[in-house]
Amino acid sequence: MVIGLGASGMAAVRFLHGQGVQVSVSEARPPDRIDPHDLEELRQLGAELETGGHSGRFFRDAELIVPSPGVPLDLPVIAAARRRGVAVAGELALAAGRIDAPVIAVTGSNGKTTVTSLIGHLLRTAGREVFVGGNIGTPVLEYIQSGRKAETVVLELSSFQLELSGSFRPAVALLLNITPDHLDRHGSMAAYAAAKKRIYANQGIHDTAIVGADDPLVMAGEAPGAGTVLRFGFNPVSEARVIDAGVALTGMIGGVKVEEWYGLETTALGSDINRLNAAAAILAARTRGCSAEDIRPGLASFAPPAHRMTQVAEIDGVRYVDDSKGTNIGAVAAALAASGDRVILIAGGRNKGGDFDLLAPAVSRHVLHLVLIGEAAGPMAEQLGGLAPATMAASMEDAVHRAAELARPGDTVLLSPGCASFDMFTGYAQRGEVFQRAVLALRDIRQTCA
Ligand code: ADP
Repeated sequence: MVIGLGASGMAAVRFLHGQGVQVSVSEARPPDRIDPHDLEELRQLGAELETGGHSGRFFRDAELIVPSPGVPLDLPVIAAARRRGVAVAGELALAAGRIDAPVIAVTGSNGKTTVTSLIGHLLRTAGREVFVGGNIGTPVLEYIQSGRKAETVVLELSSFQLELSGSFRPAVALLLNITPDHLDRHGSMAAYAAAKKRIYANQGIHDTAIVGADDPLVMAGEAPGAGTVLRFGFNPVSEARVIDAGVALTGMIGGVKVEEWYGLETTALGSDINRLNAAAAILAARTRGCSAEDIRPGLASFAPPAHRMTQVAEIDGVRYVDDSKGTNIGAVAAALAASGDRVILIAGGRNKGGDFDLLAPAVSRHVLHLVLIGEAAGPMAEQLGGLAPATMAASMEDAVHRAAELARPGDTVLLSPGCASFDMFTGYAQRGEVFQRAVLALRDIRQTCA
């Protein structure tokens, strides 16, 4: 029984069908909100389908339940099946032992996509045949089903995927950082951190864990079971230490004593945030046998993904920065730290259970004015309005205009919402595009008036 018909649910259906399993699918949406191609494919595969909710009757004969990553695990049908002793497995549990190439897996509250794509880019630039996917792009089961044979598989993994990862065991596991996110789903910080740490739960003596040395939650508690643990960060204990405009690598890496310098000043990875991400990715590429000479050209040619601290324009001395992917408190704090002390912050959207009080130190230090949008505007104004004046905006265009009126030369207008986008947009990408369009329209008006 596959629950949920997103990209990963459909990949699970195809994979299980390919294994000779009789698959049924239960989906919360009504049929008119499901992609007709998916409905047709399910019909062709002979998969039974329940839509508009999940009923105990439909689950009665299920022998294995495969919830999609977005599905809450406290659904009554899952609880009832568990009581009957029915196995519940996620896509990683199904993939475990079936990927015939070394796996580099990346998780963390922030930086997953940047680090995953950077590792893929470094390995490709070094001439390796790589598959990059998981929580971004192609689901892991689709890769397995395709029969493609990569030399290395690089996977971005979310806490939702890791919660049900069974015996999944990556050769290299990266845990970047743990700051509050998705607490509406995980219930507590402890449960969220435990899900993240499952990334190295099954690792053994020949495996490597790469961990963020600046993050107290990553470093707390039980050490990973991996034979080799490598650290990255500003922390001087780090094997990959961020200093000045680059990363210094020292220590035993891949069984060899290493002492190397990776300058990042002329790359697109020069910010504090991206130097950390580069340090993590360098360790992963080095662990997979790439040399410094292999890695440096990749660092130089990497273009970070869009909507992550992307400068859109400078208008009348004011910088406009699109960090629409900043959807949790840790990302907003990092974005503010990287944006100087004269920030007009556009934030808000759908709260994912974050406690905005945790942003208080960063807001007091960096923010001149808050411009708030979406469902979380009220709670954010309540929790942070004492630290900087708050203005409510009715739309993204309105927010950009209000921010532009408040900004003086030298200020930065930063969109880093700290929330999901689904109350107003189809996703973070659309939110960022609407912001960018509003900024560029403003620039055109100012240029015409000048
Ligand atoms: P994820 O895939 O984990 O959401 P992204 O690479 O897409 O991570 O970046 C998401 C947000 O987190 C962006 O706002 C980005 O600026 C911020 N970010 C990226 N890397 C880090 C990091 N190492 N620490 C803190 N914030 C980061």
